[in-house]
Amino acid sequence: MLRHLELPSGQRRDHSFAGLKSHTQHPFRLHLEQHWLCQLLLERLNQLQPAGQPAVLWGQELMALGNNPAPNRREPIEVWVMGKAPQPQKLTARWLVAADGAHSTVRQLLQLPFEGHDLPAPVLRLMLARLPEAVEEQLAGLTYIRHPLGTLSALRMRADWRLILRPTAAEVEPALADEQWARQRLIQIFSSYCESSAWQSLPMARDHYRIGQRCVSVRQKGRCLLIGDAAHITNTRGGLNMNFGLLEGLDLAETLARSSHGDGTDQPLAVEAWAVLWQERTHSVLMARTSQLLNGSNPLAGGHGELRPDYASKLLRQACLLDLIAARERDAT
Ligand SMILES: Cc1cc2nc3c(=O)[nH]c(=O)nc-3n(C[C@H](O)[C@H](O)[C@H](O)COP(=O)(O)OP(=O)(O)OC[C@H]3O[C@@H](n4cnc5c(N)ncnc54)[C@H](O)[C@@H]3O)c2cc1C
Repeated sequence: MLRHLELPSGQRRDHSFAGLKSHTQHPFRLHLEQHWLCQLLLERLNQLQPAGQPAVLWGQELMALGNNPAPNRREPIEVWVMGKAPQPQKLTARWLVAADGAHSTVRQLLQLPFEGHDLPAPVLRLMLARLPEAVEEQLAGLTYIRHPLGTLSALRMRADWRLILRPTAAEVEPALADEQWARQRLIQIFSSYCESSAWQSLPMARDHYRIGQRCVSVRQKGRCLLIGDAAHITNTRGGLNMNFGLLEGLDLAETLARSSHGDGTDQPLAVEAWAVLWQERTHSVLMARTSQLLNGSNPLAGGHGELRPDYASKLLRQACLLDLIAARERDAT
């Protein structure tokens, strides 16, 4: 269940994931923590790897690029990595897929600009083992709260609650100084549900992180491809950026697997098509959707607080995540 809660009025709009049943066989939110996902991926990679060869080389830092031929040439791409040996070692491969994060070394080595902007204020993240009972009763597993003082996202995790507050530029200093600002904000936002004392004694952990909205203008240079945060970063609201990275990675893996049969001459074209498609999606879906969220516009709200009738189809069109899942399932049946 996804809930939009307007405070202090208490007006709410609920969206059951069951509404996606006709589009996906997975109409639910799956919170797959990174340590589980990594373990599953490693197990699978090890199964696929020929015996005796490691699926992942740990502790290797890419330092430099060597030969980076055009995609239609037969030579491999070369990289220099630093591991335990005192000197960098050369590795060669048919493709280099750079998933080295927001500060990507590969992006810098390719001299690709990362265009966009940083947001003026960081996001404040609070972790609480429990919330006041009267507040918890108001929240679904994922709730987006709008209040005149600012927005708040509440996410129920397996073991705790994660609350995301977005201080304005003027509020950053007190918000980061200590936890009093956060407690006071929670007291104000939920004042119609509980006394301030209900928040005072609750143990709370907190951290903060800065966010930006940036992307590269091309995904491919020669035999090197960029995916994930190396290619795009956005507001983390809704997990769009990370999920987008997972999907483009999955699609790239499938593209490579599909085109690796025979003499592999079709692969460069298939990979180029992947790079163009996902760059276009980055602009038209990922960046467009997160700009909309940042502007504070609520795609769910109709003129009188009703669910906009075109919501489901619009969301499905915009969120290529769901489009892709739906398309895959159609293909599979
Ligand atoms: C505090 C915080 C909270 C966040 N919350 C959310 C959220 O709620 N929802 C959401 O969707 N997203 C969130 N994000 C963003 C999310 O974590 C990223 O979108 C996601 O991790 C990107 O994955 P990635 O694999 O592309 O890059 P990363 O996870 O950054 O992984 C890059 C990897 O490359 C390695 N690397 C870097 N340089 C080199 C090199 N030269 N050689 C070899 N390896 C290298 C790094 O060590 C790292 O392991 C958050 C990020 C932060 C920092």
